[in-house]
Amino acid sequence: MIPAAFTYVRAGSIDEAVQALAEHGEDAKVLAGGHSLIPLMRLRLAFPEVLIDIGRVAELQGVRDDGDMLAIGAATTHHTVQHDPLVLEHCGVLAHVTATVGDPQVRHRGTLGGALAHGDPAGDLPAAVLALDAELVATGPDGPRTIPAAEFFLDYLETALAPGELLTEIRVPKLDGNWGWHYEKFNRVAQAWAIVGVCALVRRANGTIDQARVGLTHMGSVPLRASATEAALRGGAADAAVLEAAADQAAEGTDPPTDHNAQPDYRRHLARVLTRRALEAAL
Ligand SMILES: Cc1cc2nc3c(=O)[nH]c(=O)nc-3n(C[C@H](O)[C@H](O)[C@H](O)COP(=O)(O)OP(=O)(O)OC[C@H]3O[C@@H](n4cnc5c(N)ncnc54)[C@H](O)[C@@H]3O)c2cc1C
Repeated sequence: MIPAAFTYVRAGSIDEAVQALAEHGEDAKVLAGGHSLIPLMRLRLAFPEVLIDIGRVAELQGVRDDGDMLAIGAATTHHTVQHDPLVLEHCGVLAHVTATVGDPQVRHRGTLGGALAHGDPAGDLPAAVLALDAELVATGPDGPRTIPAAEFFLDYLETALAPGELLTEIRVPKLDGNWGWHYEKFNRVAQAWAIVGVCALVRRANGTIDQARVGLTHMGSVPLRASATEAALRGGAADAAVLEAAADQAAEGTDPPTDHNAQPDYRRHLARVLTRRALEAAL
């Protein structure tokens, strides 16, 4: 399948990309790794007249230490995130989740910012940044603004990025040694998208669980937090009975889709089972 004709613009800086977005308005789309956008264009489900390529904008690449946070350029590839020493040292869960995305070819082209801006609830990274309480920096003609991950995903393939805004940076907290984490992804064949995924982060203090954050992949039109599970864990003992009771509530408040892989009931079942496994591994 061949995409509709488009004009190609290569941005050399964030300013150039924002300027090009302002100039071309709703006719334009940002091109990062192209691994979600190009398939949509080939199916003619998307037909932007202008593509603004940010793949060579140096300011959007790489990971930097920023005090209590890591700041990751939006055009940093999955491969770089997965292997970056700062990510491995301070936010290992992000590297761990990223390693489950597609295959090496996908991870060499696809970018963290692209995966989030695309807003696909079946993607692995949206649930991870939600569980991490990450911050997303969007830059438009009026400069940058910070959007908490909890406010970023609005609906299926719809995010809080305003027309003309570029996602420029993803800020994730450094996790200290009291945090345990795990991502449990269930798919039909290796290297495929998640039928359901669960990203669990648990912090222990004095033998109890003092914080728990659980992000759910593909359990609604947006990535979700398993709030009832988190509440059931908080202050509880780190034992099997507490984990099981909390995991049983993982599907509360979700609205899982039906597709060729699963019905909603099966996804709810998976959410409970995978949450228990993810919590056990995290602890
Ligand atoms: C075969 C295959 C398997 C895959 N498997 C998985 C998987 O298992 N798990 C998973 O999570 N993902 C998977 N993916 C998707 C992959 O993670 C993509 O890389 C990702 O969804 C999109 O990133 P991208 O950089 O390619 O973005 P693009 O395709 O370039 O862009 C996607 C969308 O985001 C917008 N955009 C991109 N960057 C920005 C920005 N900085 N600011 C504003 N808007 C922006 C674009 O305009 C477009 O609308 C797979 C993809 C393929 C092709």
